[in-house]
Amino acid sequence: MSTRRKKIYEGKGKILFEGPEPGTLIQYFKDDTTAFNSEKKAVLEGKGVINNRISEYFMIRLNTIGIQNHFIRRLNLREQLIRELEIIPLQVVVRNAAAGSLSNRFGLPEGQALPRSIIEFYLKDDKLSNPMVTEEHITAFNWATTQEIDDMMALSLRVNDFLSGAFGAVGINLIDFKLEFGRLWENDFSRVMLADEISPDSCRLWDSQTLEKMDKDRFRRDLGDVIENYTEVARRLGIMKEMPTVIQGGLH
Ligand code: UDP
Repeated sequence: MSTRRKKIYEGKGKILFEGPEPGTLIQYFKDDTTAFNSEKKAVLEGKGVINNRISEYFMIRLNTIGIQNHFIRRLNLREQLIRELEIIPLQVVVRNAAAGSLSNRFGLPEGQALPRSIIEFYLKDDKLSNPMVTEEHITAFNWATTQEIDDMMALSLRVNDFLSGAFGAVGINLIDFKLEFGRLWENDFSRVMLADEISPDSCRLWDSQTLEKMDKDRFRRDLGDVIENYTEVARRLGIMKEMPTVIQGGLH
């Protein structure tokens, strides 16, 4: 990792550096893993490399079906060049089946199919443990406009259709996932664009046959074999062919 570059922001799993030209940033994927609002922490060697590749894979494909996003190109094992957006301080969760906090809130068995896909918004604020918010809160506090909420919901459903199909084709059920969006400003106008990452850190992925978890719940719930499962997700998507040594380490 270069030390000359200016660090713009460091999050739990990624670092943003100044990009090579105005309007760009470099997104660096760390091996650091956190859960339960950073109460639980670990370094999972190779995770950043896998997530960089999986996120690249989906962002490129989403772009080809007209879902523009911040991804420009991958630079190396851990870094991608992205567009600088004004991040909207919300997490958009799309759910196809009950799991996690939804199961807890409503007493639903994990894996129970939902009558339709459900979209939820959470405020991106670790100090407040990312509370769930409604459209009323979002518009009253000016986190996003009604138009932006509509755009995020429409884009999220299109992403859900695409991801459900892509994972389904390789024997993986997409239970739920989290997206983040930003504003791309052009003069006085802005449009909503998909940002952040799409990876086993931000999705719940279950093997269609065995219903085994292949995502971050393996870390959250101490199920073991976290990297092995992330690698298997990448392998099934056909994107680990030229990098078989991730688990052996040595990738920094
Ligand atoms: N999620 C995420 N980051 C967060 C919270 C949730 O990527 O800070 C993802 C999580 O991996 C899952 C989905 O959003 O795929 C729904 O998470 P849920 O609300 O069930 O919360 P959790 O049970 O993970 O606390």
